[in-house]
Amino acid sequence: MTRAFVAVRPPGRVLDAVAAWFDAPDLPGARFTTRDQWHVTLQFLGNRADVEAVAAALAPLAVEAGPVRLGGAGAFPTERRARVLWLGVAQGAERFARLAEAVGALLAPLGHEPEARPYHPHLTLARLRPPADVRPVLARLRAGPVGDAWTVREVVVYESHLRRTGARYEARARIPLPGRPPG
Ligand code: ATP
Ligand code: MG
Repeated sequence: MTRAFVAVRPPGRVLDAVAAWFDAPDLPGARFTTRDQWHVTLQFLGNRADVEAVAAALAPLAVEAGPVRLGGAGAFPTERRARVLWLGVAQGAERFARLAEAVGALLAPLGHEPEARPYHPHLTLARLRPPADVRPVLARLRAGPVGDAWTVREVVVYESHLRRTGARYEARARIPLPGRPPG
């Protein structure tokens, strides 16, 4: 039984920028994610994923290269009763959407149904239980881009090990994206 998901892992310098930008706010009931956990999910695969089959199915993955950049904070499902506090995508959101769509199309034959909810690329910063009003927190978080733009060169299949102290994600497969054609 493998709990897994497909994600984009920002480069180290971007993770450093996120860490510098995000001052963990004083929020009762919040569990903050840590730098080693930060990622942008493309598709969640549930608890019974066949990681090898997923990696093989993703081999043809091809989305035109181009810059993406993190930026802008928000909350799910609403800012007033937030369960998830996140950092969004300031540039290249449509590139993430195309990646998620392509991953979904390649994995559908394996029985991984695409999500019903509209795709919203984000990096989870905190989970809140019970839900909390994060409007004051969001107002304090600087708007605008966080870190430099980068080019997504690969997607990662992570296995998620749920633990009481927070999930540990293990990179099980890396699927390179084709580079720019020569010339
Ligand atoms: P915990 O569940 O203990 O809070 P976690 O959410 O970090 O830890 P997972 O639940 O394994 O760990 O989630 C792994 C990734 O998949 C995260 O990015 C999470 O937001 C996403 N994810 C988890 N469940 C779903 C779901 N039902 N639909 C969409 N994405 C999901
Ligand atoms: Mg979870």
